[in-house]
Amino acid sequence: MNIANCQIVLVETSHPGNIGATARAMKNMGLEKLALVNPCKYQVYECYARASGAQEVVDSARVYSDLSAAVSDSTLVVGTSARLRSLAWPQLTPKDSACEIVSQVTRGEVSVVFGRERSGLTNEELALCSTLLNIPTAGDFSSLNVAAAVQVVAYEILCASMTNSAVDSPPGEPPAEQESVERFYEHLFAVLEQVEYFDPANPRHLPLRIRRLFNRAQPSHSEIQVLRGFLSAVEKATSN
Ligand code: SAH
Repeated sequence: MNIANCQIVLVETSHPGNIGATARAMKNMGLEKLALVNPCKYQVYECYARASGAQEVVDSARVYSDLSAAVSDSTLVVGTSARLRSLAWPQLTPKDSACEIVSQVTRGEVSVVFGRERSGLTNEELALCSTLLNIPTAGDFSSLNVAAAVQVVAYEILCASMTNSAVDSPPGEPPAEQESVERFYEHLFAVLEQVEYFDPANPRHLPLRIRRLFNRAQPSHSEIQVLRGFLSAVEKATSN
């Protein structure tokens, strides 16, 4: 099956060599779509040397100024993290994640997001992801080189794409694209604020909990439209 619609996203990578090594790891495993969010100056010798025969993956990479723009067309966004987070997010092994990725990738773009070499992904960036992928490691030395992490994940995606059981798409409509889900969250929080359930000055964990709930449900485009219609009706009823 074709996994070309699986996009690897690198956020604020600071070493050009890591971008080159990522391109090589991707091409080895049949992935070619690379997105770079605010990268370092990367089209340099060190990058191409590490890319080896995967120069075209580097040269066709798309560059974005923030993560939400890079994943706006995706129907599934998987974050990767070396650490467990305080507010437990659905956390999957590379194998389970790869199965989910392969079952969605026939229906739309899927993004797998990798963080900065030093600090990983911010909580705001993680909030854009439906699930978190963690590569098990020995003891507490849990942080892999970013291109090595891409290699592990890309390998599992290729393996999952080669097994028959993984290629069946889940039934029903595909999940909505990230951009329309983000617009729904904006609308929802505006209404929650209007009815004084949500205070932006004191958000506690509400935004993350709400995102976790809807990420789990993976609403389709028409379900998002229903929810938006409901929110508009609440707005109308409470403005009288
Ligand atoms: N200190 C950072 C580590 C960043 S390593 C942190 O704790 O998050 C750079 C990137 O490589 C991470 O953001 C993640 O995308 C990937 N990565 C490294 N180790 C990983 C692991 N064990 N599981 C999943 N992704 C990992």
